[in-house]
Amino acid sequence: MDKIEHIGIAVKDLEAANEIYTKLFGKPPYKTEVVESESVSTSFFKVGDSKIELLEATDPNSAIAKYIEKKGEGIHHIAYAVKDIKAEMERMRAEGFVVLNDEPKKGADNKLVCFLHPKSTNGVLVELCQEIS
Ligand code: ZN
Repeated sequence: MDKIEHIGIAVKDLEAANEIYTKLFGKPPYKTEVVESESVSTSFFKVGDSKIELLEATDPNSAIAKYIEKKGEGIHHIAYAVKDIKAEMERMRAEGFVVLNDEPKKGADNKLVCFLHPKSTNGVLVELCQEIS
């Protein structure tokens, strides 16, 4: 894995959260995007080399909605950049991690992504992401 690509924060109201984080960082998100496959609206902020992703559920049955219901707003996942997501998924499976996706899928911000179940990573949902070139 190359670096932490971004940290995902689950929020109830993306518009309100965008205002708060725009104040926090002193600049607006560089991108907002709906990811249909995940039933989320997202926005991305750059903080130096790092990124923060805010996620709001667009569907009460989505993973983000359920997460907020159970745990409230807060840090939802940590995403790590990888060069070859398929190879990393194979490596993770071989190491005994629970990979939640059979195949990489199209995520936000022009990435192929997959997730590792938090039960295999000490309670933290891990996202692997590869830039689509
Ligand atoms: Zn993410």
